[in-house]
Amino acid sequence: MRGGVALLLALLVAATGARAELRFEGTTAQGGLVIGRAAPGARVLVDGRPVRVTADGRFLVGFGRDAGPETTVEAVLAGGRRETVVIAVASRDWPVQRIDGLPPRKVTPPKRDWDRIRREGDMIKAARARDTATPYFLSGLRWPLRGRISGVFGSQRILNGEPRRPHSGVDIAAPTGTPVAACADGVVSLTHPDMFYTGMTVMVDHGHGLASVYVHLDSIAVTEGEAVARGQVLGTVGRTGRATGPHLHWGLSLFGTRLDPQSAVGPMDPAPGGN
Ligand code: ZN
Repeated sequence: MRGGVALLLALLVAATGARAELRFEGTTAQGGLVIGRAAPGARVLVDGRPVRVTADGRFLVGFGRDAGPETTVEAVLAGGRRETVVIAVASRDWPVQRIDGLPPRKVTPPKRDWDRIRREGDMIKAARARDTATPYFLSGLRWPLRGRISGVFGSQRILNGEPRRPHSGVDIAAPTGTPVAACADGVVSLTHPDMFYTGMTVMVDHGHGLASVYVHLDSIAVTEGEAVARGQVLGTVGRTGRATGPHLHWGLSLFGTRLDPQSAVGPMDPAPGGN
């Protein structure tokens, strides 16, 4: 009997080992977001840093605009066995976008605006830094609205002829008043009526450090701390802050790393009721 039990245990270990293989779903390119899966109970490190893992082994990996050429994901299983996967991060070409006609103060702010800009930047940074255990993002992501893409993630921006930081989200042109929906389940982490650059602003915490931001709004329909469902209206499109016309700037981040929302959500479905 002893031999039989030992054999059975060996088979169980082998079966557990087979299930433990790291798997990934999503875009392994610059700006991409990936949901990884490890064996339940595994600890996971991304480039040597521990990340949150759900009870069933799911975790997030994000690739910044300038990430690459590789990212190392390591799972440490109960018993200490380690599995390592090296993800090749595909590089992308970033276009140049020129925007003219912005108020000069919004491109090269005078000294009197610096304190306000820093204060508001710190609020946004704090919302991005939230590390919530609930994996709201498992609801899946959707577009906040339908409209013409008027600015893509990562583009090198030249504003009123001045080189500025790369574009950190996607711009969707739509008439003022168009409803803006939450891209996934989450908790509202920030609402602000009038930020210097982003105007009327809402942020949603989707758990595990994934956050979305909705910028240049005309109205806000939620309050900080409120739980929201994927598709719930957060506010409406406007042109507040640094904007030349009504559009939604939609941003996605994993802690401090900006991600490409368009790559995380896939093509926009033009059919009514789709999205
Ligand atoms: Zn934008």
